[in-house]
Amino acid sequence: MIGFIRANLTELKSYTPHPGGESNQRKEHQRKENQRKENQRKERIDRLDTNESPYDLPEELKAKLAWLYQEAIENNRYPDGSQQELKEAIATYVNQSPFPLTNTTITANHLSIGNGSDELIRTILIATCLGGEGAVMVANPTFSMYGIIAKTLGIPVVEIERNIQDFSFNLEAAQQALLEQKSPPIRVIFLVHPNSPTGNLIQEKELNWLRSLPSDILVVIDEAYCEYSQTTLVGEIATHPNWLILRTFSKALRLASHRVGYGIAHPQIITALEKVRLPYNLPSFSQTAALVALNHYHQLLAVIPEIITAREKITTDLSQFPQFRIWPSAANFIYLRPQNPHLDLAEFTAKLKAKGTLIRHTGGGLRITVGTEAENHRTLANFGDLLS
Ligand SMILES: *Cc1c(COP(=O)(O)O)cnc(C)c1O
Repeated sequence: MIGFIRANLTELKSYTPHPGGESNQRKEHQRKENQRKENQRKERIDRLDTNESPYDLPEELKAKLAWLYQEAIENNRYPDGSQQELKEAIATYVNQSPFPLTNTTITANHLSIGNGSDELIRTILIATCLGGEGAVMVANPTFSMYGIIAKTLGIPVVEIERNIQDFSFNLEAAQQALLEQKSPPIRVIFLVHPNSPTGNLIQEKELNWLRSLPSDILVVIDEAYCEYSQTTLVGEIATHPNWLILRTFSKALRLASHRVGYGIAHPQIITALEKVRLPYNLPSFSQTAALVALNHYHQLLAVIPEIITAREKITTDLSQFPQFRIWPSAANFIYLRPQNPHLDLAEFTAKLKAKGTLIRHTGGGLRITVGTEAENHRTLANFGDLLS
């Protein structure tokens, strides 16, 4: 009927941000309407499926933002399309966090800002692979957006498996895929550091392989969780101009609602990305919120030690259940797989949700965001109810 839609799009499904989460919220809303006196406990849902910070901005920063929205933003004017002020603030942040850089200095010329790092992923793919020029490589399980966005653009996705013991790259498989994928050749490799959903960091052996790749392959390292892992590979871009580091304000900086992500790379890569970027991709509200977050980043990141301690505690606590295997994590989430492959994870996830704990069933396992102390406590109790 709609013959003008590209054939490959008809096969794709649109992304569901909270699988099954919507209908539950609607159900909850109904329940609220119908039975106002229904027990509070049943209405609460702990959203531990998208790795956001459990904490909103502190009250005084919310007030400051509200004031800026009222007094400083001209609603009738386009946003700052150069994003220069925000770029300079991000450069200062990157030079300091998660630790001071020593071998290189990042400037505004090393940065491109996206409407979330999701938009940057698409910008990168348009700039590198579109029109049959390239394919991308991912190692599963990993962040699904790379493959999803590539497919919407008709870009082939070469998928390899990770080593099961520690979820490191299977380097033999990766090397072989590079040799075998000829038309189009692999132009971009996406990695997450630490990986989502599995929580592992890139190891030295993998790093050496990445460093040895030819300069006509772009290595994208997604550091969405670097404030939790306290690691970064930004220093590598000084010696590897074919590397690009992705970061986001959506996780530790608590701004998921504002959609701000950024890429750090050699200025020549940035020039290409800026050609593809839409001129006003970042609303004034988001630019302002990001600036406020950067001006107060010490305060926002002060809860990280607490979240890391909570991650270690919930890892230990959940290890009591012999039904699951848990891997160590360097991020603000943990990853489990059932010991018994017949355990139905979709059903388990649905039952947990019915008890008020929403987690992510992905990559053949379960990914659970570390929440507040109360949320983690309920997660543990709900696991206990279902497993004992
Ligand atoms: C959450 C997350 C992001 C953030 O995406 P935004 O579009 O910036 O919200 C990026 N990469 C990974 C691996 C993530 O988990």
